[in-house]
Formats: sequence, C-alpha cells, structure tokens
Amino acid sequence: MIIVMNHDATEQEIDNVVKRLEEVGFKIHLSRGVERTVIGAVGDESKLNDVAIAAMSGVEKVLPITRPYKIASRDFKQEDTVVKVGNIEIGGGSLHVMAGPCAVESREQLLTAAEEVKKAGASILRGGAFKPRTSPYSFQGLGEEGLKLLAEAREVTGLPVVTEVMDASLLPLLCEYADILQIGARNMQNFFLLREVAKTDKPVLLKRGPAATIEEWLMAAEYILAGGNPNVILCERGIKGFDTYTRNTLDLTAVAVVKHLSHLPVVVDPSHAIGNWRFVHTMSVAAAAAGVDGLIIEVHPNPEKALCDGPQSLTPKKFARLMEDIKIVTDVMRNNRKKEE
Ligand code: PEP
Ligand code: MN
Repeated sequence: MIIVMNHDATEQEIDNVVKRLEEVGFKIHLSRGVERTVIGAVGDESKLNDVAIAAMSGVEKVLPITRPYKIASRDFKQEDTVVKVGNIEIGGGSLHVMAGPCAVESREQLLTAAEEVKKAGASILRGGAFKPRTSPYSFQGLGEEGLKLLAEAREVTGLPVVTEVMDASLLPLLCEYADILQIGARNMQNFFLLREVAKTDKPVLLKRGPAATIEEWLMAAEYILAGGNPNVILCERGIKGFDTYTRNTLDLTAVAVVKHLSHLPVVVDPSHAIGNWRFVHTMSVAAAAAGVDGLIIEVHPNPEKALCDGPQSLTPKKFARLMEDIKIVTDVMRNNRKKEE
C-alpha cells in the first residue's frame, strides 16, 4: 500500500506511521518529495485490520498497490533506483556499456577483448564462464578457470565483471569472482535461483525470458527484491516473435513501458536480441535514444573464430565506432535535458 502523508506532516508523524508498519512486518520505502512524503509499504495487509493507518495523525490517504509486483513498482518507490557497482552508478542518468565476449575462451582472447572495450569506453566487462547452450555438444564454458581469467582481466583493466550464474550451487564460487550476477533468459523464472541470488549482496542483471511478458519479468524481479536484494538491473534481450530472420525480436517498447511501471534500471542486449552483428549498431543507437540505462554488447577480437555467438559479435573496431555514435546520442539527450531544467 501507499501512504500519502499531509504536506505539513511532521517528522514525528512520519516516524510513527513507519514504526507502526514495521511492527507488523511491513517493508518500507520512504519517498521524500518536495511537496509531501509518500510511504511505500509491502507486507501482509490482513495484519493491518485493526491498525487503521488511515486514521493516524499526519496521514492524508492510503492507497492500495494494485499491481501484482509491489516493491518493483513505481507506486512503491517513485524515484529511479541507482545500482552501484564500485563507483559506477547504473540508473543514475548516464548510459553504461557492458561489453566483452559471449564466453571466456582463453587468456589472450579475454585480455585482448577487455583492453579493447575499455579503450573504446565500456565501463563493465562481460564474459560467460558457465554457458547455457542449446546443444550439449557445444562449448559449455571454461568454468572456474574462466572466472579466474575474468578476475585477471578486471585486475588489468579495472573494469568490474558481469557473468552468468546458471545454478544456485555455483553461487558461492560466482560470488568470489563476479561484480554483477547475470541471470540468463532461460533462468528468468527459476524461482529457487532467484531466491538464492536475493540472499547475496551482489547486483543482479535479470534478463527477460524469451517468452516472458513484462509482468512476468517484473514478478521475477519482485522475487529478488522481496528476498532482500534491492540491486536489480532489468535486461531486455529479445523475445520470440514469428519472424525467423533475426534470432529474437528486440522489444524496445518494453524499455519504455518498464521504465514507466518500475523504478529499476533497464539495459538492452542487442546482441542476443538480433543474433547478427550487422544490426547491432543501429539497434544499440535506437536503445540509447529510448533512454536505456545501459547496453550489454558482445565483442570478440576475432568473431569468426568465436566458440560461442560469433555471428552476433562485433569486432573491437566496430565496437569503437558504435561507442562514438552512442556518445553523440547521449550527449544530445543530456544537453536537451539541461536546457529544459
Ligand atoms: C549471454 O549473455 O551470453 C546469454 C546466454 O544471454 P541470454 O540469457 O540472454 O540468452
Ligand atoms: Mn552470447
């Protein structure tokens, strides 16, 4: 529920309402606007029958959160969530690019990719050590050795690392190495895994399932938030459509909708959405113009020799060109916002 306080409510009145809600086990988010304070509260509402929050001093009105996701919704928290990864702020108004190979293949491949993407302006390094492959005969990733290489690349470049956790049993290992835990599209509704990542203190990049509705995606985020981890970054990576020309269909509409429905940062993965490097540039620029908080892009020093997702990977040179265009778009948008202020 949302508790809207009177515009002249005192600190004491606000505090009393918060305390009362906490006593019955509610999770609270306080939004202190210029005009008034709004309290977002989630919990077992049957416990509030006799509390009569609405009658408490300083309360203007009590509104239900009608959507099935509560903590993830903008009703609960109006201001954008900023997820901190070291000194990087995702959701803080600038666009961060995560880039690197689909899979860590070798020391040389990863270090070259990491240095190149850093030089071009990426702020986070991506790379899978445990890969969810459609075929059991395909390269499955280097496992722990891949994680060690990611840690080495972070050491050399200073870039924090995002890597996928496929199974809860791998979490202790992944937490030793990763700065951001990626939940892959295929695992978006692995509720057990979502509950486990919720117990960690790592930011989570939650990919949208290829057949998940926006509501199902936000419900998956709700699992992580309700489990105690507020640092969720949503990632649109394409959904199944009827057209087979591209690997998936990039749902840019979802970016606008989710930013309206939720306070969580949203990033786009054009590589897996399209599956073909030729269109990654255009759609990355389009995503930047749609106001995403970040992009996650596959870059390989030699895509033709990639063990995984070569056809959708950019060369470092093409990636550097793309970064120039992204900067142009984000600069124009930022300057325009400044003029409006
Ligand atoms: C990936 O990022 O390499 C990946 C497997 O992504 P997705 O889960 O979106 O398919
Ligand atoms: Mn991939």
